Amino acid sequence: MASRVTVWVLPDQLIPEHPALRLAATLVANRRDDVRVVLVESRGWLRRLPYHRIRQVLYLSAGRHYAAELAALGYQVEVISAETSRDGLAQHVARHQPSRILTMEAAEYAPRRWQLGTMADDLGVPVEVVPNTQFLVGRFNPIPDPEPGRRYVMEDFYHAIRRRFRLLIEPGGTPTTGRWNFDLDNRRRLPKRAAIPRPLRFEPDELTHQVIAEIEAAGFGVGSALGFDLAVTRAEAEAAFDDFLRHRLPDFGPFEDAMSRDDGVLYHSMLAPQLNLGLLDPLRMARLAEAEYHHDRASINSVEGFIRQVVGWREFVYWQYHRQMPTLRRANAWNATRPMPRLLWDGATDLACIRSVVTRLTATAYTHHIERLMIVCNFCLLAGINPVAVADWFLTFYADSHDWVVLPNVIGMGLNADGGLTATKPYIASGAYINRMSDFCSTCVYRPEVRVGPTACPFTTLYWNFLIEHEEERRPNPRLGLALVGLTRIKAAERERIMDQAAQFLDKLEPWTGPDHPPDRVGGTSPAKPRQASLLS
Ligand code: SF4
Repeated sequence: MASRVTVWVLPDQLIPEHPALRLAATLVANRRDDVRVVLVESRGWLRRLPYHRIRQVLYLSAGRHYAAELAALGYQVEVISAETSRDGLAQHVARHQPSRILTMEAAEYAPRRWQLGTMADDLGVPVEVVPNTQFLVGRFNPIPDPEPGRRYVMEDFYHAIRRRFRLLIEPGGTPTTGRWNFDLDNRRRLPKRAAIPRPLRFEPDELTHQVIAEIEAAGFGVGSALGFDLAVTRAEAEAAFDDFLRHRLPDFGPFEDAMSRDDGVLYHSMLAPQLNLGLLDPLRMARLAEAEYHHDRASINSVEGFIRQVVGWREFVYWQYHRQMPTLRRANAWNATRPMPRLLWDGATDLACIRSVVTRLTATAYTHHIERLMIVCNFCLLAGINPVAVADWFLTFYADSHDWVVLPNVIGMGLNADGGLTATKPYIASGAYINRMSDFCSTCVYRPEVRVGPTACPFTTLYWNFLIEHEEERRPNPRLGLALVGLTRIKAAERERIMDQAAQFLDKLEPWTGPDHPPDRVGGTSPAKPRQASLLS
């Protein structure tokens, strides 16, 4: 019977020490050729949204490379292309009649519910689901029994993770150098003519070339995959991370919030796509980054800033996702109903910051987190764009996007649509912030400090308009105190002009109706329907 064990590896679980494989090995006394491994490529998923072609290539190529690596280790591996994961597994079951299926908990809500619910009945095979080990909160939960509706702050969560895994922690339990947080040291603008080392890129091998040809021939998706050069194996991802540690981590911290029209990567690792597929391990990344500090190769503010991203924010949003699902997908605390605008699809706009970010995103399927938060989400929150439409746009364009990261990061943090469960204040800013942290404004037809009139920056107009519209309801939030104090200095007549200018701008904001627009899914004039965009459906 043991020879009929099947391990189902989900497409974002390409981890080296897969716990379902380890369990299978114990059942067959380490005879790998007695274990079948199945991976399913979901055609339904590939058509669900017009995903960036770089993302589609990464998903297929990384999965096929992983399958080839397991086969080389002696496993019997089957890669099935099917309409859905369920269809693919049903085909596998019909062909091989496994006596049981072993699998690891999905990171996403819907497939996890299926695994833990009706999967065994649907397939007619006993199913054993092992805990997910891709996240630290699968190994240690800082808040095991959260109270419904209570706000939990990322900072406390992050301290608990640091203490538990002893990351930048002294023997007495205090943080290295005495501080937990170096955010205030990490807000420098990029100097002119900064020489920034380029990230390591990878020439596609034959397998990846085949995938690129498939995706380009299918003709569906934004962007192009013809210049694809991302890491698709664990070895490549590790090499790219090593390159980041040596060449960009030392300057990561001070410039992590900086933005530049000439460079979209700056000192960021650009490895979230590989991390989110399982090719990199978050704890190993954090420990290797910490070692750079202990060897005096990177400053504490760079190392702490990076560790905060990988084991702080990333783990916190994953935790928030499972805490808030399934209602998170429908959250819309600001009652925002406007469809996703054309300018965020084609970048054809005179707002220089948005033009630059969308052009780069279309070319690379990547922008760093501050551009996501303070350009895209900031604009969408101020303009009242429907949260589901914004989340679908992120899922479409970004190579690293998955349901579990997009919903809490975009609907929760970026749009503050979950009532403040993920972030305690809305991340809104006027053009002054964008001007302070970037060089976008120097080439823009608008002026960031102007809020009304022909040269008024739309971010600035919309920012003050948002504060005026929500003045009363936001007054109790102390984190908006300074902004609201600024508002009290604006006279009634000026408020009227701001509101008029904002209304005119918003009236002219065209919805996207271009060739890749699936009208039943992305945007629309009525509140977008909540839907499942799972990578694994
Ligand atoms: Fe963006 Fe306003 Fe600056 Fe133009 S002036 S680049 S619209 S922030």
